[in-house]
Amino acid sequence: MKRKLTIKNLTCIACPMGCDLEVTYTPEKIIEVKGNTCKRGITYAETEIFHPERVVTTTVRVKGARIEFVPVKTEKTIPKKLTHSVIKHASGVTLKAPVKVGDIVIKNILNSGVNLIVTRNLVCVNQKSKKRKRKKSS
Ligand code: SF4
Repeated sequence: MKRKLTIKNLTCIACPMGCDLEVTYTPEKIIEVKGNTCKRGITYAETEIFHPERVVTTTVRVKGARIEFVPVKTEKTIPKKLTHSVIKHASGVTLKAPVKVGDIVIKNILNSGVNLIVTRNLVCVNQKSKKRKRKKSS
């Protein structure tokens, strides 16, 4: 029986060189990778074809801050197929200001072993106006 070969073009993002890869594979394994400058390109192609992963970024609602939403992201890459579920899960969360970079929004999100964390500092509205008052009075 003949193996079904698929050819896919990818851009390796494992380093800033961004090599254009041509990957030939069957449903079971990579047959050939062309265009890679180093071995990491092969590893990247394997991951991208058989179990792609992404860092997921989204926003969650925050109460008591100057703006209503704060950006968040997964601390590490997670399986790409979980992306929409992570975004949906995060949309149900409301944080309370203040929040700071690195705060955990959801621990071990969807049992991925990865935390969803805050990527921007947001102070309380009251904290900010107190600081302004202090500056004016000094
Ligand atoms: S194949 Fe190697 S050199 Fe090319 S982008 Fe990937 S990691 Fe960088």
